Amino acid sequence: MTTNKRGKVYLVGAGPGDPGLMTLKGKECLHSADVVVYDYLANSAFLDYAGDGAELIYVGKKGGCHTKTQEEISSLITNKALEGKMVVRLKGGDPFVFGRGGEESQELARAGVDFEVVPGVTSAIAVPAYAGIPLTHRDHASSVAFITGHEDPTKETSSIAWDKLATGVDTLVFLMGVKTLPMIAENLLASGRSPDTPVAVIENGTTPGQRTTEARLKDIARVFEKADIKPPAIIVLGDVVSLRDKLNWFESMPLFGKKIVVTRATEQASGFLKSLSRLGASCIEFPTIEVVPPDDDWRALDRAIGIIETYEWLLFTSANGVRYFLERLYMCGRDVRDLQGRRIGAIGPKTAQAWSDLGIRPDLVPSEYRAEAVVAALEQYGVKGTKVLLPRATVARDILPEELRKMGASVDVIPAYRTRKPDHDTERVRGMFARGEIDMVTFTSSSTVTNFVDMFGPDPKDLAKSMAEVTVACIGPITAKTAEEKGFHVSLMPSEYTIEALTEGIREYFAPETSLE
Ligand code: SAH
Repeated sequence: MTTNKRGKVYLVGAGPGDPGLMTLKGKECLHSADVVVYDYLANSAFLDYAGDGAELIYVGKKGGCHTKTQEEISSLITNKALEGKMVVRLKGGDPFVFGRGGEESQELARAGVDFEVVPGVTSAIAVPAYAGIPLTHRDHASSVAFITGHEDPTKETSSIAWDKLATGVDTLVFLMGVKTLPMIAENLLASGRSPDTPVAVIENGTTPGQRTTEARLKDIARVFEKADIKPPAIIVLGDVVSLRDKLNWFESMPLFGKKIVVTRATEQASGFLKSLSRLGASCIEFPTIEVVPPDDDWRALDRAIGIIETYEWLLFTSANGVRYFLERLYMCGRDVRDLQGRRIGAIGPKTAQAWSDLGIRPDLVPSEYRAEAVVAALEQYGVKGTKVLLPRATVARDILPEELRKMGASVDVIPAYRTRKPDHDTERVRGMFARGEIDMVTFTSSSTVTNFVDMFGPDPKDLAKSMAEVTVACIGPITAKTAEEKGFHVSLMPSEYTIEALTEGIREYFAPETSLE
């Protein structure tokens, strides 16, 4: 199909693996793309940046196993652009550094297709940085070269000037050199590089699987064979490698290399994810709860909003309750000014925050969230004998309305939202469990536990078995009890039942030596 719209191809660099190392422009391109054509990527998180309607096409390339030939890839992106589509050609690292971006853009130019290059952070620079190796340094290196280790082995004469490289450049960075490493070392030694030059090989750089092996040039072949190095890996050679000893910041983070599954609802997970990532963990977001509109649509809430003036108190027990209530208020053609004269109660700090974000100060914020304390506070604030609107989740505990009624209040409990188990795919996480890649699963409420188990299928014992080596962490005793009932062994529960305490508990669990106390 051809359209009048002019298509365009963006050759976008995805960076070396850490999802934070994609450029803002690259992310923006992904967001607006009609089609995303991608290689094997160290991190599939990038694909989440693509819009819902985008067509995602995997064209492979890992090791020697190519899903599509280079010509097929070039004609695919050309044709999609000629159909009028906005195409993102997503490549690892930088598209113009050993990325065939040169060939693909030549092809586009030949076909008269508009294109742009969005540079990425190349692994040649980022991976040494994550291993604590500065490529240049006033005292150690004033030149650096990026070299392919993947030269066509059938070539009679090498296009790499080994003699010049060996003695003319301070820091050498080899890409695609795992297989040819012994040959690289031999050539450099034969061309006069000092046998004592320090060398580092960094596998899976910038990811939780980063591993660095060091040796002297003369020992390379022996040491690296023993270490069983696997691609993708970067080889760095030069005096700067010795600086790593003191500068190895990434691999020394408290949760470096730990893969932690977060089961919280997406709406609530971001703070937790951020604090774990800041400690160096790699988080797998696996929401087991989804917040959706109530079953019987909005009628009940809309009716209550229609007679909002008749309520003396509006009482909220969650930020979601506030969010949905305000959304409906607006949809009903009203706004916060119509709440004038109502008193607002917010139970829990996040609930209070949802109001103060709007510049509204709740009249009542009980300092404790235990049912008894809340009830006592309500009594003190004069909820007694008034008309109260309580917009909250469809299924919630009944203590609060019961107690309010006992105080002589007239209470309308209105469903404002509902939580449910999402039906997203469990395959990716299931595979990670099977391969023993997950270190920890975190549960932050009983329903995260029950939904998690349900989502994994009929036999909870199977799940507990495949998770035998995985540490289970729970936020508090009720959650832990549910987890134990489902057959999990709970190894971690903080003494205070907050996300902050759980995060701190996780750090202490994996890295007790980094304790803040
Ligand atoms: N265009 C890419 C390079 C593609 S060639 C870039 O700019 O980074 C593929 C080679 O890149 C691999 O063989 C390896 O040498 C290197 N590489 C890519 N990602 C890497 C990573 N996360 N860790 C180590 N090496 C990596």
